[in-house]
Amino acid sequence: MIPTAEQLEFRALAREFAAGEIRPHVEAWDAERHLPDTLFASLAELGFLGMRMPEAHGGLGVDTPTFAMVMEALAWGDAAAALAVAIHNGPIPRVLEGWGSEEQKAHWFPDMASGQVLGAFSLTEPGAGSDPAALTTRARARGGSWVLDGRKSWVTNGDRAGLILLFARTGADDSGREGISAFLVPRDTAGLRVVDRERTLGLSASETVSLELDGVELPEEALLGSPGDGYEIAMDALLVGRIGVAAQALGIGQAAFEHALRYSGEREQFGRSLHRFGAVREKLAGMAIRLRQARLLTLDAATRLDQGEMGDQTHLPTSPRALSSMAKVAASEAAMWVADEAVQIFGGYGYMRDYPVERLMRDAKGTQIYEGANEVLQMVVAADAVQEFEGRV
Ligand SMILES: Cc1cc2nc3c(=O)[nH]c(=O)nc-3n(C[C@H](O)[C@H](O)[C@H](O)COP(=O)(O)OP(=O)(O)OC[C@H]3O[C@@H](n4cnc5c(N)ncnc54)[C@H](O)[C@@H]3O)c2cc1C
Repeated sequence: MIPTAEQLEFRALAREFAAGEIRPHVEAWDAERHLPDTLFASLAELGFLGMRMPEAHGGLGVDTPTFAMVMEALAWGDAAAALAVAIHNGPIPRVLEGWGSEEQKAHWFPDMASGQVLGAFSLTEPGAGSDPAALTTRARARGGSWVLDGRKSWVTNGDRAGLILLFARTGADDSGREGISAFLVPRDTAGLRVVDRERTLGLSASETVSLELDGVELPEEALLGSPGDGYEIAMDALLVGRIGVAAQALGIGQAAFEHALRYSGEREQFGRSLHRFGAVREKLAGMAIRLRQARLLTLDAATRLDQGEMGDQTHLPTSPRALSSMAKVAASEAAMWVADEAVQIFGGYGYMRDYPVERLMRDAKGTQIYEGANEVLQMVVAADAVQEFEGRV
């Protein structure tokens, strides 16, 4: 995919913003475990919070490849800030557009587009991670309302968000995909409480919280789609969610690569710059190759998701879920490998908190886990490969 002039312009704006408004503050945000309100105000002002909201509702309505390019550039500045933007712009607008009523769209999209309302996505629970069909948060119909009780884990943006797309069980069974429903939950609803602000290995500034729902009463209109649509909605949301994480991982990897490239040119040992040594060059080449492979895979998955064009006679899996999974696995593995090698190129300095590569390595690790752990996404790809093979023979 060759980017258009418009896409390049938007990416350049994001990179300029990341260089000027994000990078100078990242170390402080990481240490304080906090993203400032002023960051969100600037992101809103430049349109980054309205990127994926429909134009009819005040957003920019950019396509998925543009979203991925911008996410990579923002993550090159700071992965925690990028994650907040990715969740707001990725899963929530996609399913609100696909399943929302005209009233729900008119209610939420304009405020999300202006950045007044930030979105969060809440699927995970203490006992339901890779297997969301095990979730136990309950939503009971009472009169014309829904009443929700339960506990949700690790909700990124969960405290700052104005809207939480939250999944709860409405069916009679205690487990299974069928009885899950999706709700649009205003963050200030009575009974919805933040119980923990998590301390994480990386992405320290990212606001990841656990939530308790104790008799949270919602009107009927808070239900997205029909009762029982929740599992399908969650899986659809994750298609774009995984592309957002792939792009975030690329930004982390790209930053680590650039730091390693610069440092290996400046640092001398044995009377020569490090980048004159074959062993270091091999690492730099490996970084560039992995990043480029993963970027092409990510942009291809993003393009095909928009075009709904999947089959390409390669005899490799090309369903939307397989392509977004491949992109996320490839990009997060590349980011982790690149960040690890960048620390190695920096030597002892790389291991010190004074240099950025140790933070990038901590940040990269998260991308292998969230929005579907890589082992589970590989199961998805393999299942499609087997299905495709069996269909051919
Ligand atoms: C920083 C951070 C932010 C997050 N933000 C959000 C958010 O905003 N919203 C949200 O809903 N969730 C969020 N999550 C949760 C995240 O999506 C889950 O952590 C992830 O889905 C994995 O679930 P788990 O942690 O319970 O791991 P588990 O499901 O317990 O898996 C543990 C390990 O076992 C492996 N495993 C599990 N099942 C299989 C299998 N069948 N075959 C082989 N291996 C398997 C996994 O790959 C993993 O390595 C976040 C997590 C983190 C770390």
